[in-house]
Amino acid sequence: VQAAFRSDLAPLLELVGTGKESLSFMKKRIRHLAQQWLRAARRLEQKLKGRQGDQKHILIHIGFLTEESGDVFSPRVLKGGPLGEMVQWADILAALFLLGHSLKVTVSLKELQSNLGVPPGRGNCPLTNPLPFDLIYTDYHGLQQMKQHMGLSFKKYRCRVRVIDTFGTEPAYNHEEYATLRGFRTNWGYWNLHPSQFMTMFPHTPDNSFMGFVSEELNQTERQRIKSNKVSSMAVVYGKEASIWKGKEKFLSILNKYMEIHGTVYYETQRPPEVPAFVKNHGLLPQHEFQQLLRKAKLFIGFGFPYEGPAPLEAIANGCVFLQARFNPPHSSLNHEFFRGKPTSREVSSQHPYAEDFIGKPHVWTVDYNNSEEFEAAIKTILRTQVDPYLPYEYTCEGMLERIHAYIQHQDFCTMPSPPPPAKAQSPAMQSPPSPLALSPNATHLVWSPSARRDPHAWPPADSLQVWLSEGQHACTETCRRRGLVCEPTFFRFLNKKEVFLQLSITCDSTEYEMNHLYPAVAENVHECYLQKEPLLFSCAGHNTKYRRLCPCRDYREGQVALCRDCL
Ligand code: UDP
Repeated sequence: VQAAFRSDLAPLLELVGTGKESLSFMKKRIRHLAQQWLRAARRLEQKLKGRQGDQKHILIHIGFLTEESGDVFSPRVLKGGPLGEMVQWADILAALFLLGHSLKVTVSLKELQSNLGVPPGRGNCPLTNPLPFDLIYTDYHGLQQMKQHMGLSFKKYRCRVRVIDTFGTEPAYNHEEYATLRGFRTNWGYWNLHPSQFMTMFPHTPDNSFMGFVSEELNQTERQRIKSNKVSSMAVVYGKEASIWKGKEKFLSILNKYMEIHGTVYYETQRPPEVPAFVKNHGLLPQHEFQQLLRKAKLFIGFGFPYEGPAPLEAIANGCVFLQARFNPPHSSLNHEFFRGKPTSREVSSQHPYAEDFIGKPHVWTVDYNNSEEFEAAIKTILRTQVDPYLPYEYTCEGMLERIHAYIQHQDFCTMPSPPPPAKAQSPAMQSPPSPLALSPNATHLVWSPSARRDPHAWPPADSLQVWLSEGQHACTETCRRRGLVCEPTFFRFLNKKEVFLQLSITCDSTEYEMNHLYPAVAENVHECYLQKEPLLFSCAGHNTKYRRLCPCRDYREGQVALCRDCL
């Protein structure tokens, strides 16, 4: 069956179920954004000109909302707890539904078992019938539950799973044997999934797929109205929990010299003691009213926590300037409690690195808060700066639909053409005969040879590949970024070859195949070259001054970093 775009979101609300604050929050959000979603679906439908692809049977199992995993979120929805995850799940549901797929939504272990076909009362046995879903979207909690209850069938079907994973899971932490050997073991990693099966909230490392969420979009009239209703002296502080205000008196009093400060901090009966008396605290607002507040405000200001949530994008989309703290040194799993044990080596350079790197001035100011003069100067400049509402395309409904559509049509981890296992490197005679070179030199880097055979089914198409050599201090993510490109992990298999070093005029006194997430790479001073032995360890993330890495980069669509120019 062809998937056909849907033109009504009401049936989805029926599917979502009732009985939890978190489900009500998600349904309210879907209802509120319905018109915007439907318009976007119509635009994408026109753009695709009938190339919608097959309808998939999809199970959406939101593990963190199940009682069995503690459901710590639902009771906190009305009390200032994190809402980012719920925002994202609501948007995933809306997108999958509008794209015309057939959905089942589960938020308890019992429903999960009955949908998977686990006979009641029996756990951990292989399923008796074939799995009735082409795809399963879940989270780490759900993954654990599936593993526990599917027995051996889990291994068979895990290629159909997509894991919604806010902060991302890098290949080095995902590969069980390697993570154990090299000390990358965490509470979360070691699932041996294909790294692209993990889907993140922001485009962190391209090793994972970027899922994202959406923000409210404004039409021309609304933009005009917002601009004329802005209160230029009004600031809103980012964060719903009182604890983020602790120790921030100095900044607040500087800010208070220039602006009226508003907050949306949750409280029961009294003003939380952390929030100074000169702050106008609205308490936690319904999402829609929070957006109204942002429409009036000039400045949205972050004090370092929460990390990487949706709210700054909403503020910028509603015409605010976002002012945030630079982290120097950056926060990471090595030095910050919050990131400890998370399966990523990412170094977080500010409260919201996406806002810093992908949006920047005049919408985003990232400032050293330890320097009160710099902080005060930024506020003064912001007060004089005019900004328009801005929303990157990838966070619009159309952008999210386009991206998920492309993933569903093209990502296949069940029949992946795994590259031929390297024969023993020591005996080149045993290796397969050399294939015609796919890459050709271009002064500083390699490009796809015009004469090379191109697999018409490969996605992304290989001819967008450029191979660059990293500096020792840079990961491939950074190496590609500096060239206006993005690292594309599916291309590693094209450059994991001895000839590629030669083409880049690198002298290899020896070449070894080893398991290392930084390979292929060269240790330049000793002329030793290394190729990757384990395809699951191909990684855009990671660097070590000992090596210069071979990096597969590609182009991307303006405002849609997940897709290459010819990727639709
Ligand atoms: N939000 C809300 N009411 C408020 C403040 C925020 O509904 O008073 C919403 C906001 O619109 C955003 C969501 O909470 O979509 C999550 O915001 P945040 O960036 O704080 O991330 P979190 O830490 O909650 O995941």
